[in-house]
Amino acid sequence: MPSYEDLEARIIDTGECTVCGACILACPSFHVKFTDGRPKRLKRSVDCVGCSICYDACYVLRHSLIKDIEGSVIGRGKRESTGSFRRATLARTQDVGIAGTCQDGGIVSTLLLYALDSGVIDGALVVGRDGWVPVERIAKTREDILSAAGTKYGVVPVLRALRAAVVDHGMSNVCVVGSPCHIQSIRYLKYKGLPLASSVSLAVGLFCRENYEYAGIAEKARAYGLDMEMVKRLDVRDTFEIYSDGRKVSLDITEVKSCVPRHCLVCQDFAAELADIAVGSDISNRGWCTVIIRTEEGDGIFAGMEQRGLVETRSMEDLCGIEEIAHRKKEKGKQTGQIFRLSEEGLDASEIASKLGIAEERVSHRLERATDRET
Ligand SMILES: Cc1cc2nc3c(=O)[nH]c(=O)nc-3n(C[C@H](O)[C@H](O)[C@H](O)COP(=O)(O)OP(=O)(O)OC[C@H]3O[C@@H](n4cnc5c(N)ncnc54)[C@H](O)[C@@H]3O)c2cc1C
Ligand code: SF4
Ligand code: SF4
Ligand code: SF4
Repeated sequence: MPSYEDLEARIIDTGECTVCGACILACPSFHVKFTDGRPKRLKRSVDCVGCSICYDACYVLRHSLIKDIEGSVIGRGKRESTGSFRRATLARTQDVGIAGTCQDGGIVSTLLLYALDSGVIDGALVVGRDGWVPVERIAKTREDILSAAGTKYGVVPVLRALRAAVVDHGMSNVCVVGSPCHIQSIRYLKYKGLPLASSVSLAVGLFCRENYEYAGIAEKARAYGLDMEMVKRLDVRDTFEIYSDGRKVSLDITEVKSCVPRHCLVCQDFAAELADIAVGSDISNRGWCTVIIRTEEGDGIFAGMEQRGLVETRSMEDLCGIEEIAHRKKEKGKQTGQIFRLSEEGLDASEIASKLGIAEERVSHRLERATDRET
């Protein structure tokens, strides 16, 4: 029977772990903890009952199932690189308090508040911050939701908070807000029937090209004379933007590439394809969000927000811009995965390049980035 050692050898130590938090959540003996930016069993192996629950909880080991899950949860309708959906719109909040603190159009925070107020959910797993270090939190009030508004960069095991939400706070209708990897993981846990996951009734996903390790970003900021304690906002557009003390510093994206975790280099989900509702800023103007509504539940909630005048919407001509970004991410993730596999089989950069029919420089570049992450 596979056990924690197999999970560590196959996923955690190889850098494939997306730090979703599911194995931490699932261990019935609380042996797996979030330590030094990744899950780790701290107890001696003799204390571990070897039950394989942590191993079974990891969606990364079961990527081939994701398509089936998508079929059963979202449906098998028209499908582009963005995933199946019912409708898409541009939107921004009408709530002045949210507009003052949110990242883009405030749609995620407005949706959470509406879902709480209307009794659709009794709480949400969100990402707050300690300084700028992202930390998973449980939101039960408007204040909780507002304090989690805004994007933080860094890995965060969102799902480990589910146990406290259910057991300590007695929640039975929880919304999970997260990156596409968090959403894939919670869908997998529900599909698999992990009892705690049955309390999740809504999944709100954020678009995601890539994430950045917090420590690396803080180091870059310091090199520009910025103190992370004074930073007001982080954002990624064409550049990595740091707003601090009345200053805006724009870093070329190539400058922060060394901060991208290895697991993001092979990721193929940009538009949170398994979410009830996916939200992002790409292709919308500043202060607005692009919203992709995928499920009946998502549709019902967004329609309720519209009817109550909580959001202003604008129709979108098409999703071509999003499809292009999502398609590029899929192709790049697929190719990088092949490069890593061939490298593990012992091929060097030039052999990999000729096998895949691509430039050797591209292969070396991606292998270097993976090696940077491991050191
Ligand atoms: C790592 C990351 C990369 C992203 N990349 C892109 C991108 O390439 N293109 C794009 O269009 N959009 C991207 N987004 C989404 C974008 O930054 C906004 O989150 C989105 O537009 C929603 O804006 P909002 O004003 O509705 O959110 P708000 O109302 O401000 O709410 C933001 C919500 O995000 C959650 N959150 C914050 N940080 C994290 C985190 N690290 N992990 C999980 N949840 C978090 C909080 O729980 C909060 O509820 C990314 C987000 C993250 C976290
Ligand atoms: S007790 Fe079970 S779930 Fe916990 S670490 Fe050991 S094998 Fe994994
Ligand atoms: S379950 Fe999530 S946190 Fe645990 S090893 Fe797998 S990807 Fe990492
Ligand atoms: S790029 Fe993929 S793995 Fe990385 S944070 Fe985004 S969704 Fe998760």
